[in-house]
Amino acid sequence: MKKISVLILLLFLVACSSCRLAEIGYSEDEIKVIESLGEEAKDKIMEHGYDAEIIKVISDPTFDVSRLDRYLSLDLKAEDRLMVVNKGYQADSYDEDTLALMRTAYYIHERLDRYLDYLALHPEMDYREVVEMVNCNRDHDYYTNTIVSDTSKDDLIIANKYYTIEEYVPEDLVHIDSYYGLDAYLDRDTYEAYVAMADKMMAEGIDVWITSAYRPYDSQVRIYNSYLERDPQEVVDTYSARPGFSDHQTGRVVDLIEPGGDLGTFEDSAAFLWLQDHAYEYGFILRYPSDKIEMTGYTYESWHYRYVGKEVAKYIKDNGITFDEYYAYFIESQKASK
Ligand SMILES: [Zn+2]
Repeated sequence: MKKISVLILLLFLVACSSCRLAEIGYSEDEIKVIESLGEEAKDKIMEHGYDAEIIKVISDPTFDVSRLDRYLSLDLKAEDRLMVVNKGYQADSYDEDTLALMRTAYYIHERLDRYLDYLALHPEMDYREVVEMVNCNRDHDYYTNTIVSDTSKDDLIIANKYYTIEEYVPEDLVHIDSYYGLDAYLDRDTYEAYVAMADKMMAEGIDVWITSAYRPYDSQVRIYNSYLERDPQEVVDTYSARPGFSDHQTGRVVDLIEPGGDLGTFEDSAAFLWLQDHAYEYGFILRYPSDKIEMTGYTYESWHYRYVGKEVAKYIKDNGITFDEYYAYFIESQKASK
């Protein structure tokens, strides 16, 4: 008799809390969804009051009941709550710009304040441009806020106007055979990949020749200083790297010409056309494309190819990003690749 009355009491309590959910405004189907989460979650939702979006949040396959408090605390649409909570984003406010930035490709949460500052200065830009520019550090002036590059990254060592490799010398330099180019050196993997690529090109009747490769720190000092005699520094910086900041110093770069041609005519060569379609298959990327001048900070160089390995070269080509952005997103902030 006692057992039965306890059971009746329990049933009454359960029925009653469901009544309260109904009173708040939840439908019968919604109450079933809420009840499936267990008593504790149900109490929290009851206390929170009616929330049309929370049912969508709970019904999403990525919903995590252990984060229920956080989902409930945000007065946002279901998809935004799921994004913010599931990715662990914390922001001062979740206004339209912040949420739009968070949804943008290659968004790096640690850079949110920089995106917002840059957007405020450039309201004409769309969110993707803002993210791209800040990822490439273009919100900082050249050669300010410089970072010492991690030279243990091998084929993914970065050198640009924000990352210096200082007086780095590649560990395994090999001499370029005169059949392929000038009297100079390249990183071994880069050279082997280049030889495979050049052999394929020449087998197809396309001539190509390396006119510049690894440039040691000291020779970049000489080159840069000679340019300074000709042009003011802000002009020189648009076409030549400062010593310690040159892609060539990584040992993983070739500047190419057609025999008889020069850098300026390379864009019109059969070699250039071929490289546009096939360079990535050998691990090379066009480092300074014509449509990315704003991001790379370098004028278009149809002749300058950087070795990054096949996988990364393919990703960069397929996704139309620069190595600078790839580095910010996948290497520096260590997002899971692809
Ligand atoms: Zn070059």
